[in-house]
Amino acid sequence: MAEISIIGAGPAGLIAAQTLAQAGHRVTIFDQMASVGRKFLLAGRGGLNLTHSEPLPDFLPRYGASQSFLAKALDIFSPDDLRAWCTSLGQDWFIGSSGRVFPTVMKTSPLLRAWLARLAALHVTIRPRMRWMGWNEQGALLFQNAAYELEQFNPDATILALGGASWPRLGSDGTWVDLLLGRGIDVAPLKPANCGFIVPWSPIFRGKFIGHALHHITASFAGQIAEGEAIISDYGIEGGVIYGIGSGLRDHIEQHGEATMHIDLRPEMSHNETMRRLRAIRARESTGNTLRKALSLSPVAISLLRESTMDIPRDSEKLAGFVKAVPLRLIGTQNIGRAISSAGGIKWSALDEQLMLRRHPGLFAAGEMIDWEAPTGGYLLQACFSTGTQAARGVMNWLAARHP
Ligand SMILES: Cc1cc2nc3c(=O)[nH]c(=O)nc-3n(C[C@H](O)[C@H](O)[C@H](O)COP(=O)(O)OP(=O)(O)OC[C@H]3O[C@@H](n4cnc5c(N)ncnc54)[C@H](O)[C@@H]3O)c2cc1C
Repeated sequence: MAEISIIGAGPAGLIAAQTLAQAGHRVTIFDQMASVGRKFLLAGRGGLNLTHSEPLPDFLPRYGASQSFLAKALDIFSPDDLRAWCTSLGQDWFIGSSGRVFPTVMKTSPLLRAWLARLAALHVTIRPRMRWMGWNEQGALLFQNAAYELEQFNPDATILALGGASWPRLGSDGTWVDLLLGRGIDVAPLKPANCGFIVPWSPIFRGKFIGHALHHITASFAGQIAEGEAIISDYGIEGGVIYGIGSGLRDHIEQHGEATMHIDLRPEMSHNETMRRLRAIRARESTGNTLRKALSLSPVAISLLRESTMDIPRDSEKLAGFVKAVPLRLIGTQNIGRAISSAGGIKWSALDEQLMLRRHPGLFAAGEMIDWEAPTGGYLLQACFSTGTQAARGVMNWLAARHP
């Protein structure tokens, strides 16, 4: 039986603890917050989207460049395993019309309560208010406790599951980046992911439409396309459809200072059908009335057209083209502190296939602190559960190889 330290009590750290404790190891989880799973709890506020029901060939590409690395993790702990885990904690789940998987109660709290009871039964020790500070000169883990005293630990193996840098007041503040860089570990800068974008709205539009939704639209940028809805906010635009193409937009803005995406306000209608409907409206109607009557566009959608050009075309063919590709100029990303997740983190090249840090035997990593990103839809939690399990298995394999 080995002594394992896990730092970070989010889903990645907790599932790693469960896996190791079930195999008979002594596990201690450290977290700097007063209670565990704070971001996991927040994720349940708008409906906890645990995973997605689509088949793996559709699921894996959601991780973009990281899909080949995460394929192994999802093989070890699949979307089906995540649903079975939820059931095993006494929580039913359902598949929504979008294919997303939710616990029936939609919230995190009953699930987390049952999970913590299971971990307690497995004799997992949880040490809240323990801020990880790095290592001392002898290589022991250093923590600052609630009384601001330093405590040190020398476990047989360690799993880092410190999360990204969004919503830092919930504990994941990304301060671990400098600790790892200081040890020569390659970390890609943390950037906002699944975040809103800044749009230079006119004062009139901003004054009238904050909080309004654009339903059933598609947004596209550089070959990426997503469908869903977007919400107008005081700083710009946010929502699932924007998150779906957000990584490309973010990277383009980083390089060029701005990006123009295109919104199709009537994606279910072909260009010809849109044009036919526009033509069917009498010529003396105003453009606003024509758009409302022919295409049932909402006031916010019609104003968005006006917002993006001084001169809305009157010609039906041009107007149809415009409705189906409204250009929207974005000039920045929302602050990482308010993003749903973060991109960047420990580079895959710094990890071996067991998620152990190369040149740092016995040190493993899991969850959002690794350099992958994905849109919303349950892909974030799935990758955290899968890499948490993979890192725990990695620890067991590594221990077994040392003490056959
Ligand atoms: C508003 C919101 C809604 C979301 N909804 C969903 C959803 O429906 N579906 C989905 O798939 N994903 C969702 N997510 C994302 C998901 O919650 C995260 O991807 C996931 O929680 C990351 O898990 P993790 O274990 O890697 O890290 P975290 O959950 O961030 O946990 C990391 C832990 O490490 C601790 N820690 C950090 N630094 C230190 C330190 N120095 N010392 C000690 N402890 C430290 C933190 O306190 C924290 O408890 C949502 C996120 C947000 C913000």
